Amino acid sequence: MKRIAVFGSTGSIGTQALSIIASNPRRLKPVLLTCRSRIDMLRGQIERFRPEAVAVERESDAVALRREYPGLEVYCGKGGLRDAAREIGCDIMLNAVVGIAGLEPTLAAIDAAKAHGIAGFTIALANKETLVTGGRLVITRAADAGALLVPVDSEHSAIFQCLMGNEGNAIKRILLTASGGPFRGYSTEQLKSVTVGDALIHPNWKMGRKITVDSATMVNKGLEIIEAKWLYGVEASKIEVLIHPQSIVHSMVEYEDGAIMAQLGTPNMKVPISYAFSYPERWVTDARNVDFITLGSLQFDAPAGDTRRSLDMAYRVMRESEEKAYDSGAVALNGANEVLVQLFLDGRIAFLDIIDSLEKVLDSHDSRTVKGIEDILEIDRQARERALSFIRR
Ligand code: NDP
Ligand code: MG
Repeated sequence: MKRIAVFGSTGSIGTQALSIIASNPRRLKPVLLTCRSRIDMLRGQIERFRPEAVAVERESDAVALRREYPGLEVYCGKGGLRDAAREIGCDIMLNAVVGIAGLEPTLAAIDAAKAHGIAGFTIALANKETLVTGGRLVITRAADAGALLVPVDSEHSAIFQCLMGNEGNAIKRILLTASGGPFRGYSTEQLKSVTVGDALIHPNWKMGRKITVDSATMVNKGLEIIEAKWLYGVEASKIEVLIHPQSIVHSMVEYEDGAIMAQLGTPNMKVPISYAFSYPERWVTDARNVDFITLGSLQFDAPAGDTRRSLDMAYRVMRESEEKAYDSGAVALNGANEVLVQLFLDGRIAFLDIIDSLEKVLDSHDSRTVKGIEDILEIDRQARERALSFIRR
C-alpha cells in the first residue's frame, strides 16, 4: 500500500486522481489533500477519503476544518503546502497545484524523502510550472535524493514511455504534439475579437481555466518545451512542436537510426495520471479504445500564426539557459504569464495582449543565473509587476 499526497485535490487533475485512487483502494492510500479555496469540495473529499492531513490557503478555513474534523492535521497560510510536503511522509506526491505555487512543495517533498530515506519516492508531476521555473534546481535535487520524477502531462508521459527500452541511445528529435487549441488556424484579425468564453472551450480536453487559456495562446506548449528539456536533458532545438488536432498521438521520440517511437491513445488524462502512480506497472483505467477506422486519418501541421510567437519565446529563454546557464528568462515568462492569464480571465485585457505583453516582458528582462529558490521567487515577483506595468500603460 503506497501513501499518496494529493496536492491540488479539488482541481481537474486532482479530482481525476482521486477517482483513480478510489478504484485502487488496496494500492493507494491518500494521506494528504490540499486546495486553495474550494473548501466545500474538500469537505466532501475528507469525508470520502479520510486523509491524515489537509492544507488550505486561509486561516479561517483551517480553523473551521479543525473544529469539524478533530484529529485531522490542518496546514494553512503561505508556507502551508511546503510544511505539509515536508511533514506528511509519503511514497508518492502528486503535484497538481497550478502555477509557481507548486515549486516550493516539490522541493520540500524531495528534501523530506531524502532526510527520511524513503526508498523509491516518486513525484507524479502535473504542475509543469515547477520545472519551468525551477528546472535545474529540481532535477539536480531529485537526482541527489534518488527521487523519481514521473510526468503527468500527457505529452511528457508519452515521451517517458517512448524512452523506455532505449536508455543510453541518443535522441535525435522529440516531436511534441499540440492540439492547436480552440483558435487553430485563426488570423490575427480573428484573434483580436475572441472572448474568455471562446478561449475556455478546448476541443479535446477538459482542464482547469489557467491551462485552458495557456492552450489557446500556445504558451502551454512553450512551457512544455521547457518542461521536456529539463525532464529529458535534450536541447530545446531538438524539440519540435507538431500541431495534431485529434490529440491521439501524445508525442514521439526519434532516434539516431531514424526509428520513431510514439505513444497513442484517446485523450484521457486518467491514463497518464494512473501511469505516474503505477509505473512500471499498468493498471486498468476507463480509457475508451481508439477506433482507428472511424478516425480515418491523423493530421499533422506546422505551428503557425500569432500563437507561434509563444513557442518562439520558449526557445528564446531556453537558448539563454543552454548557452549561458541563464535561467531567469523562463521564470519571468512564467510569472508574467500567470498574471496576464488572470487579467484576461477577469475580462481586463484582450486575448492578444497576453502574447504581446509577454514579449515586452522578455524584451525588457535582464537575463541572469538563478541562485536558488529565493532568487526564483524574486524574479517571478518582478516579472509580474513588469507585466502589470505594461498593461497599465
Ligand atoms: P485546476 O485549476 O483545475 O486545479 C488547481 C488545483 O490547485 C486546485 O486544487 C486549486 O485549489 C489548487 N490551487 C490553485 N492555486 C493554488 C495556490 N496558489 N496555492 C495552492 N493551491 C492552489 O488546475 P488543473 O488541474 O487543470 O492543473 C493543475 C496542474 O496540472 C497545472 O500546472 C496544469 O498545467 C497541469 N496540467 C493539467 C492538465 C489537465 O488536464 N487539467 C493536463 C496537463 C497538465 P482550488 O480548487 O481551491 O482553487
Ligand atoms: Mg500537456
